Amino acid sequence: MQKDYSKPILRTFITYFRPHIGLFILDLSCALVASLIDLSFPLIARHAMYHMLPNPAYETFFHVMVIVAIAFLLRAALNYIITYWGHMFGVLVEADLRDDLFSHIQTLDFGFFNRNRTGQLLSRMTGDLFEITEMAHHGPEDVFIALVTIVGAIIIMFTIEWKLALIILIILPIALFIVMLNRRRMILTSRRVKERLAEINGEIEAGFSGIRTSKAFANEASDYGKFAKANELFKTSKCDNYKAFGMFASSLEFFMCIMPVVIMAFGGWFIMRTDMNYADLITFYLYISTFITPIRKLANFMETFMNGWAGLNRFTDIMRMEPEIKDAPDAVRLGWDADGNAVPVEGNIDIDHVSFAYDNKEIDVINDITLRIRPGETVAIVGPSGGGKTTLCQLIPRFYDVDEGSIAIDGQDIRNLTLESLRKNIGLVQQDVFLFPDTIAENIRYGRPGATDEEVREAARKAEIYDDVMAMPQQFDSYTGERGVLLSGGQKQRVSIARIFLKNPPILILDEATSALDTVTESRIQGAFDKLSVGRTTIIIAHRLSTIRNAERIILIDEGEIKEEGTHEELMALNGKYAELYRYSEN
Ligand code: ADP
Ligand code: MG
Repeated sequence: MQKDYSKPILRTFITYFRPHIGLFILDLSCALVASLIDLSFPLIARHAMYHMLPNPAYETFFHVMVIVAIAFLLRAALNYIITYWGHMFGVLVEADLRDDLFSHIQTLDFGFFNRNRTGQLLSRMTGDLFEITEMAHHGPEDVFIALVTIVGAIIIMFTIEWKLALIILIILPIALFIVMLNRRRMILTSRRVKERLAEINGEIEAGFSGIRTSKAFANEASDYGKFAKANELFKTSKCDNYKAFGMFASSLEFFMCIMPVVIMAFGGWFIMRTDMNYADLITFYLYISTFITPIRKLANFMETFMNGWAGLNRFTDIMRMEPEIKDAPDAVRLGWDADGNAVPVEGNIDIDHVSFAYDNKEIDVINDITLRIRPGETVAIVGPSGGGKTTLCQLIPRFYDVDEGSIAIDGQDIRNLTLESLRKNIGLVQQDVFLFPDTIAENIRYGRPGATDEEVREAARKAEIYDDVMAMPQQFDSYTGERGVLLSGGQKQRVSIARIFLKNPPILILDEATSALDTVTESRIQGAFDKLSVGRTTIIIAHRLSTIRNAERIILIDEGEIKEEGTHEELMALNGKYAELYRYSEN
């Protein structure tokens, strides 16, 4: 369901309750009945003390006590429902929130992912959402139970003996205030502990993963210094936290113990003056003991609320981010005509006076580049590192939008095409291949979800990885490990080539696909690339110039501009930058 996040935070949040409102009402109703049971017991006891014990009405009294016991059994059942279904409600809301957050983050641009660390996003997806839903159900539930019990008890107390009730009415807010204040300090210090923990973990990680560098520079002492500083800060913040914890626990204990004393003192005085009797004093005691749970609940709620609210704010911040790159309202599908018939994509790429800068917008990374690539043509792009080759290629699938000029495929501006149809028609192979922690078969099938096993095998054969896979113990069911650590660099690259064979796009971009590989491995998988580029418009960015010597056209890009263009022979004859690069790369 698409929600409107521009509204006030709480208004949008409430809409997540709606689908599960039944559970929410169940939760609150059970909480209400449980509170009423708590409230009624002292009253019943009082009634017994007044009318049954003096007579003595044995039979009625024990009947009543059995009924009370049954009521508390019912209360236990209600408590089960509150705990189980209440959390269930939270879990359902959390699942909806996570669903929306994941789908939304998926739509965000490369720029967003450049700015945000995966670890942080992960903690948004899990930690924050958990805090939010704890707030969603414990919030209303705890506050409701506490209010009903405390307000109810005070009203009943007033009807019994208003003077004693008034004394409690004065003490209780003071007690609540002091307990809450200490609780708040405890929450804040525990947050600091968490931050410091992250810092010290960072130092430990850096210290140990960098231990080889550290030893090589004989820098252990200065690394130890950094660690010791983080350790000291961590220690102080933990001490602060325990101090706050001590204050909170003892203030809560104090008020719990002092209330009976106050009741005894004033109640005793009233009894001596014959203003009050023993039965009423005992009733007051029983009511005081019903306060313990609500006060604890309110203190807990404070923590839930502070954490949940912070999480909800971060959640809304992300949900309010709009992807800059999205389908135009009248976008058409590349490869389909207006009547919905599939038409072949030829693969004409027309880059027209394109300029582009990353976020900071100061220096143009691409500066007025014009380049036409005909269907089926292979163009090699070379140039010094940082010249803008990767950036140019990322503009074609619209990972970023051009600032000036335009890019068209088969005559259609890519900004008028749907992102899905555009990207389905472009195959991109990069230097670092991302493999999912899954089987080899599934990793290849990623090129076209739904492809049959036979198609996957065929793609593996074309990518020349079939024999390697068959030699593995579990063949196509072999696990690739986290990020593909169980495969060699060359094997990973061939899995990514197999994906593209399955995807079968008319346009192919190879961005330094073999740069990370040694020359022997590179020349072995060169054949797979040659096969892949047959019949497709291909852009090859090459690091080792020997691999593109035979390209029909070579473009040299430096400082975001096309500086030279021609065949290998022409560019060598020109004796410019290309010739210089070529001589370096060969030696
Ligand atoms: P090449 O592929 O030719 O080595 P790139 O296109 O990767 O060059 O980079 C061109 C320039 O853009 C470099 O100066 C680089 O620092 C900068 N750059 C690359 N990626 C980003 C990014 N995500 N954000 C900001 N600047 C970037
Ligand atoms: Mg690059």
